[in-house]
This record gives sequence, structure tokens and C-alpha cells, in this order.
Amino acid sequence: SPRPPPPHVVLVSSPCAGHVMPMAELARRLVAFHGCAATLVTFSGLAASLDARSAAVIASLPASSVAAVTLPEVALDDVPAGASFDTLIFELVRRSLPSLREFLRSISGGVAALVPDLFCGVVLDLAAELGIPRYLFLPSNVASLACMRRLVELHDGAAPGEYRDFPDPLHLAGDVTISVADLPIEFLDRSNPVFGQLIDEGRRHRRADGFLVNSFAEMEPTIVEDFKKAAEEGAFPPVYPVGPFVRSSSNEIGESACLEWLDRQPAGSVVYVSFGSAGMLSVEQTRELAAGLEISGHRFLWVVRMPSLDSETYDFGTGGGGGGHDDDPLAWLPDGFLERTRGRGLAVASWTPQVRVLSHPGMAAFVSHCGWNSALESVSAGVPMMAWPLYAEQKVNAVILTEVAGVALRPAAARGGDGVVTREEVAAAVKELMDPGEKGNAARRRAKELQAAAARARSPDGASHRELDEVAGKWKQTTVLRTNNAV
Ligand code: UDP
Repeated sequence: SPRPPPPHVVLVSSPCAGHVMPMAELARRLVAFHGCAATLVTFSGLAASLDARSAAVIASLPASSVAAVTLPEVALDDVPAGASFDTLIFELVRRSLPSLREFLRSISGGVAALVPDLFCGVVLDLAAELGIPRYLFLPSNVASLACMRRLVELHDGAAPGEYRDFPDPLHLAGDVTISVADLPIEFLDRSNPVFGQLIDEGRRHRRADGFLVNSFAEMEPTIVEDFKKAAEEGAFPPVYPVGPFVRSSSNEIGESACLEWLDRQPAGSVVYVSFGSAGMLSVEQTRELAAGLEISGHRFLWVVRMPSLDSETYDFGTGGGGGGHDDDPLAWLPDGFLERTRGRGLAVASWTPQVRVLSHPGMAAFVSHCGWNSALESVSAGVPMMAWPLYAEQKVNAVILTEVAGVALRPAAARGGDGVVTREEVAAAVKELMDPGEKGNAARRRAKELQAAAARARSPDGASHRELDEVAGKWKQTTVLRTNNAV
């Protein structure tokens, strides 16, 4: 009998660089190694800078393998000014459902699975409506899913109209706990409408057929194990750690002058400083960081973004916050800073080709906002981190990186919130990470161990590869069933 067609998987990515990039890599791997056909669906019109990044990611995909579809823009002008980024994304996705439905119906041969990312949870309902198996993709770790699960359990376990306080610290799994202050801020403010949305999202999670998570078992073994047990007991859908997905360095966008500069630095000497695609520091914090790097005496490569002029910690380009595109972030550095550090420090405006930077031989350590993609890129390059979380689930990530994986040091001052990390604290943390000493040595050793573990997990007989193969196997079965039924 003729071979059934490969299962067609449709991945739906919200318009954040940190989501589109790993989903593109997931799509690529499904096609290249797991016998699937894949289409990556993205949205448009939220912000020009986001659209440009999505387009660049799509352009970097091998054209012959992954198909890409951009849904038409939807009107969002009635969303109240000052709505949070989360609200904008939720609305964008919700209002795009009709065109997504239409697209899914137009696919001949049917869809074997629909895989929306965390911000597109409402797509799970559409999948249910259309009778398509549904898997949620988490660009973050299994720990953040555990936090969400606990939030809903505690909320739904309380009497109607009441709310049970989080125990502090919150127990995640085994001996892993997280202090309430390290939870995403949206979890803590029940009067914020976003809180209700989170609860709805968490309940929706339980109706998913499974989760594909951009992490790997050795990064957070206890939590992964706990979810395996929950799946066996039928208490929660199966969770598959299938990462880490790190784009290949040949797919990098961005200028390369900083790589030429890195070529001229001694091996293992440079501290890379970056707060991701959207992170912002206040003017005062930018000044303290500059001074701290200066007194540390170490070489550094700093991706400087426009400072925040209000108390926002991020700017995805959807309006508000930072400055316009023509503004020069380097102009906000302290007077004479660039001259005084010339030769041993390089400040780059806005963006570097980060995967290439982190895997450069000159690299020694990464001062990071703990965005999960950045963390995985650092680990995959064997580079230890200083954890400096800012927003979203970054404090959860910081806890995993420092307390579970042991690959990062977190200065007490880098707690998030309103506090400023002083120049002395910055310098001390950089020195602790760079200079010989018990803590720095341990983080460096763990970075190398996890680098090897990440490479193993991704290899053809590695755990993450096998997990993805298991899921693809399920999708193949449904495709065979449907093909047989059609005959
Ligand atoms: N990135 C980059 N160059 C930069 C800043 C960020 O290539 O100057 C990439 C980075 O490599 C990562 C992504 O943008 O893949 C940021 O994702 P992450 O989850 O680390 O943080 P987010 O920006 O989503 O907060």
C-alpha cells in the first residue's frame, strides 16, 4: 500500500523574537529528523520591529522544508492605550482566530497536530473545535509550567470567591522551591485582569494533549520527573522536554563588527552583557552598570538599549517606554565612559548576533536578564552567567539557573523590582564570576557539564530527540488512521 503522507504539523507563534526563533527551530527539526511536514504561522501588525524580526527568522528557514504563513493584520486600535503587552498579544491572537480557522480548513490532507506557543493558548480551543490534536509549545522551562500549575491548583482548591495565599516558598517538585517574590508579578496581583486570564490559561492547559518544552531533562531533572509521574497518574498532560533549540550561528542576523572586536581579545576574557530583545534599565541603573563594569577591570561587550524613562522594564516596540528608533542608546552612557574603557570594552547599540557572540572563544561569562533563549544559548556555549532578571518569568529562570542547574550566580541585589544594583555590587558580581574562587569555579564547571549534556540531549540518540520522536510517532499514527478511514 502507498506510504501515508507525512503528518502535517501547524505551529503558531506569537510575535516575540524569543518565541518565533525557537519555534522555527522546532519546525525545522520536525521536518529534518522526525518525518513531519511543518507550517509556521505568525501574526502581523502589532509592531513594525516585531514583524521585521519574524520576517528575518522566517527568511532564515530552509525554504524547501518549512512552509510559512503570516496571518493578515487585525485592528487593535480599540484596545485601551496603556494596555499591557500580554493583553495586546491575547487580543491579537483572539482576533486572528477566524483567519487561522480558514487557513487550517484550506489545508488539504488535514492537520495532524496544532502547536501554539504559550501566548496563543486560545488556539487550543480552536484545535478542539476542529478535532485536531493540540500541543502547547513552551519557549521557557518546565519550572515555569510548574508555577502555573500550582497557581491554578491553589486557586481552584479554595472556597468559591476566596483565594488561597501562596505558601512561601512555593513547593515546585522534590526539593525545589521558589520564593513568592520570584514568581512572575502577574501571579501576585489578583485585582489585575491579567490574573484572571492566567487562571483561565492554566485551566486550558489541562485540556492539552501535551506540552513541548524548550528545555532538557538535565537542566531541571526533579521537575521533569515530577511531571512524568503526574502524566502516568493522569493528573496532568504529558510534558516533553525537547530542547534546547538554539539557532545555528550561520542563521544570525545583526552586525558583525563586534565579532571582529572579539577576535582581537584573549581567549576566555570577555564578559558579555545583554538584557535580551526588549529589556530596559533605568537611567540610573545604566550608569551604575557602566561604572561597575569599569571598576571590575574586566573586558566586556555590552549591548546597550535605550534606557527606561518610566519604571517599565521592557519595550517590545508597541509604543510607550524608551525612545524612538533614531535615538542613540550609547548617548546615555556616563561621560567619558567609552573613552576610559576603550580597548577593553565595547558598547554596541541594541543588537548583536548573540549565538555567535556566546560561542566565540573570547567569551568568558554572560551578565543576562535570564530570558530563557539567552540562558539556553549560554549553556549551549558552556558560558556561566550572572543572573539579573527583569520581567516575565525571568526570576523563575534565575532560580533554576542558580539553585537547580548551578550555572549562574545571582547577586543579592539583582532581585528585580525597584531596587538599583550599585556599581560596587556589579563589580563584585563580575569579579566573583570571572576570578578564581569557589563560586565562580563551580559555575564554570557546571557550564561545561551542561554544555555537554545539552549537546547529548539534542543528538540522535539523546533524550530530547527521543521525546520529540515519541510525539511525532503519535502524530504519524493519527495520520495513518485518517488515511485508512478515508479509503
Ligand atoms: N538576541 C540577539 N541579539 C541581541 C539580543 C537578543 O540575538 O542583541 C536574541 C537572543 O540570542 C535570544 C533572543 O534574542 O535568542 C532573546 O530571547 P530571550 O528569551 O533571551 O529574551 P527576550 O528578548 O524574549 O526577553
